[in-house]
Amino acid sequence: MFRKILVANRGEIALRVICACKDLGIRTVAVYSEADRDALHTRFADEAICIGPPRSAESYLNIASIISAAEVTDSEAIHPGYGFLSENAHFAEVCETSKLTFIGPSPGVIELMGDKDKARRKMAALGLPVVPGSGVLTSEEQAATEAERVGYPLMIKAVAGGGGRGMRIIKAPKDLPQALATAQAEAEASFGLPDIYLEKYIASPRHIEFQVMGDAYGKVIHLGERECTLQRRHQKVVEESPSLTIGSDTREEMGKKVVEALEKIGYTNAGTVEFLMDENHKLYFLEMNTRIQVEHPVTELVTGLDLVKQQIRIASGEKLPPEWDSRPLNGHAIECRICAEDPETFVPSPGRITGLYLPGGPGVRVDHSIYTEYVIPPYYDSLIAKLICHGRDREEAIQRMARALEMFVVEGIQTLLPVHEKIMADPDFRAGNFDTHFLDRYLHTTAKSDVPVESVR
Ligand code: ADP
Ligand code: ADP
Ligand code: MG
Repeated sequence: MFRKILVANRGEIALRVICACKDLGIRTVAVYSEADRDALHTRFADEAICIGPPRSAESYLNIASIISAAEVTDSEAIHPGYGFLSENAHFAEVCETSKLTFIGPSPGVIELMGDKDKARRKMAALGLPVVPGSGVLTSEEQAATEAERVGYPLMIKAVAGGGGRGMRIIKAPKDLPQALATAQAEAEASFGLPDIYLEKYIASPRHIEFQVMGDAYGKVIHLGERECTLQRRHQKVVEESPSLTIGSDTREEMGKKVVEALEKIGYTNAGTVEFLMDENHKLYFLEMNTRIQVEHPVTELVTGLDLVKQQIRIASGEKLPPEWDSRPLNGHAIECRICAEDPETFVPSPGRITGLYLPGGPGVRVDHSIYTEYVIPPYYDSLIAKLICHGRDREEAIQRMARALEMFVVEGIQTLLPVHEKIMADPDFRAGNFDTHFLDRYLHTTAKSDVPVESVR
């Protein structure tokens, strides 16, 4: 097992990784930007090294600084968390050549899955149903032909897209030329790669994803699914496990296909295979995230397993324990993402937290990175806490979530707490009656928020 791990991230996920390391008796090194001197990951790691100015490009994305920090602290491995460098194949490769273990899959697999076009083709070839669509678009004429073949309405997506960005809807052929130009320019600006492709636009989908884990000995398992249908701007806001809409038959059947496909590509460590479910309850592969996911705690609560500890064990060469095979899902878990944002407009609300009470009690977990008098910097993702509740069944989990939200107090800044309270009280949410547009419609009527489905950024 490793002696010391460097955590190349910030916020709640850096703390989550530090917890896993402490539970395994491993020393930790935090890296922090000048804006994060007073952040909790900086305080709770055994050592902390400043890696640059506030801007991510100069700190949390600065590969040279992070590798140097690992070298001077004599770290043996790097955990990338999610976001930042977690899906950067080049970074994983630099770790390898610097004799540092990257806690994640191999650079080759990261690269394959980081390209949505290649990933779709590979998964289709390995037997997964994939959202109908095109390959990379090469000209306006070819795009028009492909668009006719796939059929309108369509979605243009960036092959390197992520974080809900880099996609737009095209309703009719007349909108295609303009949309192509804009999407290409945006893809180039946001992801450094202009490549775009088309996908059939699924009008009323649910988002369902499988948690997977693979070891270095060719074994891959899945740990059931999460439903992440409640989104705003294509970003998840509430997640739960199990999903209400797939039964144990579909779970087993699709889970088996996912495992077989990933064993064939030699997948190691944690990952998530995302699907869209159409109106007929048919699942289509959407993309794969080759890292730990924001919403991993709901799977931890229904399986009773520690996914981050297992990521570290796998990276150190341990086998997947046999008892992880076909683990039953126990009860129901829900996660609410508490972001520092105006609950009506979703505009970030950084600043000083003047008062704080974190809820607890049976079935409640809070993964967070905040304290009283902490000043949330304006430079990074607005996620400040995740409230995760477990119950014997969905109803008990929702009841506990409603209670915990009521007792969750953050003063001095605005948060999405009021939005989550409304969701938990909503009869359609309680009945499981929703699609990915639920929140847009819902916020239009309750909070007068103007979040068009087409908005990409
Ligand atoms: P999850 O799928 O785990 O819910 P999200 O899609 O919400 O993850 O992304 C998690 C974090 O990673 C967010 O901070 C998001 O902005 C960031 N992220 C993910 N992929 C990319 C990408 N390709 N480019 C920029 N940021 C990304
Ligand atoms: P990202 O890499 O940004 O996470 P995804 O491809 O996973 O992008 O899509 C994110 C979300 O965008 C999905 O959960 C869904 O709500 C919406 N979306 C993506 N593709 C489609 C599609 N073809 N039809 C309808 N909605 C889609
Ligand atoms: Mg996704």
